[in-house]
Amino acid sequence: MNWILRADSLVKKYGNVIAVNDITFEIFRGEIFGFLGPNGAGKTTTIRMMSGLIKPDSGKVIINNPDSLKSIGICPQHIVIWENLTCYEQIVFTGKMYNLSSEEVRNKGTELLGALGLRGVKDRLAKKLSGGMQRRLNIALALIHSPEIVFLDEPQAGLDPQSRILVREYIRSIKNKTTVVLTTHDMEEAEKLSDRICIIDKGKLLSIGTADEIININGFEDLVEIDIEGDIETELLPFIDKEFGLDISVTTRRITFKSGNPVAQLEKIMKTIREHNLNINSLQMRKRSLEDIFISLTGRSLRE
Ligand code: ATP
Repeated sequence: MNWILRADSLVKKYGNVIAVNDITFEIFRGEIFGFLGPNGAGKTTTIRMMSGLIKPDSGKVIINNPDSLKSIGICPQHIVIWENLTCYEQIVFTGKMYNLSSEEVRNKGTELLGALGLRGVKDRLAKKLSGGMQRRLNIALALIHSPEIVFLDEPQAGLDPQSRILVREYIRSIKNKTTVVLTTHDMEEAEKLSDRICIIDKGKLLSIGTADEIININGFEDLVEIDIEGDIETELLPFIDKEFGLDISVTTRRITFKSGNPVAQLEKIMKTIREHNLNINSLQMRKRSLEDIFISLTGRSLRE
């Protein structure tokens, strides 16, 4: 695969906090690459180093064939627009800063405003736009010069479902022409949007690959969830644990376990449950999702 950027052992510290702790990966040309991680994981710090906004304390960002990388775009997490300019005026202003001709600004600006659902408000002052519209305008400004690589820090934050779809479809439509690097903590969005995902937490890279690869690498087993009528008596718990001999978690009403072949084990499980006079309310088997893997890699505790 043809890579465009390589992060090589990147480290960034803020005082005692190691925001990014020795991470190495490559971004392939034309792909949508999503950083997924909880609050404070180090996503923003990583893309700020990759886009040249801050210097790493050690390690480096390598551009493959630097002469061929003419332009990058950046859409920061915090909205940066001019409140007293209209949407279209900001498009023109930003386009001119990139030395685009009037015709290029008109064509690209019209395309972006249309694709991002801003055509109807193109003459409205930015301060009078809703938060979601401002976010979409921010994305438009990062893309006006058709950059070869664009860094989008939480492009979907604060967007309603319709806007999310618009933004997702637009980002998908520019892939191959533009390499897209984005951050998110929304697993569903990461999975829907990204060709490859990089899960990071506490500054460390935990897993990288397509969503399917991440799921397969981190646990091929299916999950079985059995909801019991009434409470499972606590004294029974060690027994269930021992009897099933599986990687099992039991709450008062739900038995959950991972299994490589749940169908083969089901009969034994049902027998054990009946022997303990427990009634099953519901039983489901499902493939492990990206969310299951994300939680098992990063834990359940709240961050910062
Ligand atoms: P979020 O999803 O909350 O935006 P993130 O994954 O983007 O989080 P970063 O913003 O990269 O995380 O922060 C990583 C760590 O570095 C956090 O502990 C944060 O408090 C710290 N940090 C980031 N920027 C600075 C700074 N300028 N000064 C001091 N500490 C910082």
